[in-house]
Amino acid sequence: MRHCPLCTVLPALALVAVPVGLLLAAAPASQDEKGAKKEWGVHDKERPQPAMVTPAGHGTAPSDAISLFDGKSLDAWTGGAWEVKSDAQGQPYFQVKAGSGNIRTKEGFGSCQLHIEWMVPESCKCNGQQGCNSGVFFMDRYELQILGSNPNKTYVDGMAGAMYGQYPPLVNACNPNGQWNTYDVVFSAPKFNADGSLAKAGHMTVFFNGVLVQNHSEIWGATAHMAKAKYSAHEPKLPIGLQDHGDALCFRNVWVRPLAD
Ligand code: MG
Repeated sequence: MRHCPLCTVLPALALVAVPVGLLLAAAPASQDEKGAKKEWGVHDKERPQPAMVTPAGHGTAPSDAISLFDGKSLDAWTGGAWEVKSDAQGQPYFQVKAGSGNIRTKEGFGSCQLHIEWMVPESCKCNGQQGCNSGVFFMDRYELQILGSNPNKTYVDGMAGAMYGQYPPLVNACNPNGQWNTYDVVFSAPKFNADGSLAKAGHMTVFFNGVLVQNHSEIWGATAHMAKAKYSAHEPKLPIGLQDHGDALCFRNVWVRPLAD
């Protein structure tokens, strides 16, 4: 019988490899300079439990969210003299006071999850970009367009669910005027190097009435009209703005959850 060296070596290697594999799987997670675990084994029972959060209910925010509208005042905001009102069922909302200017949160935010509900009153007549226009400005400069878009034909990178001047929504999920719409957004803030150059572009993922319309779309820069967007370095946290485009749009149930980068 011919001698086969590998026939004896391979089983021996396997005997060594199995315990090494077991050792790797059972090895404690490594620690960073502060002694905190930063890597975890599969199904590691020492891995910390996520924080408990009571989910949002109808018209309420998750328990760890920052409410940007308490139903009584616009104390979380500064800027235009927008008005707090209530509908026929007594549900509070706030409305653009046309011509009084944009509003901005007093608090600054970077990366975040935002929930906002908006409605174009039936009395508004949409004509392209006119008559039913507003917008959410993340960091006071990256606009997620708000526009009555059912029906209302305009350039597609300016319709509801568009990142204005950059990306159309994947689909048109807009409700007709007179009905409330919902945006649920994951906004990732851009990052800048010390010399002001862009280190990492921002992104938006947007669900419009529960339908995905922006899928981790890369932000080109600060929203511009009739021009290609460009970045310029800014602070890591800035206000969220809502646009007064001269139209009496309504908003309610606005909340934000800051996200770690
Ligand atoms: Mg707008």
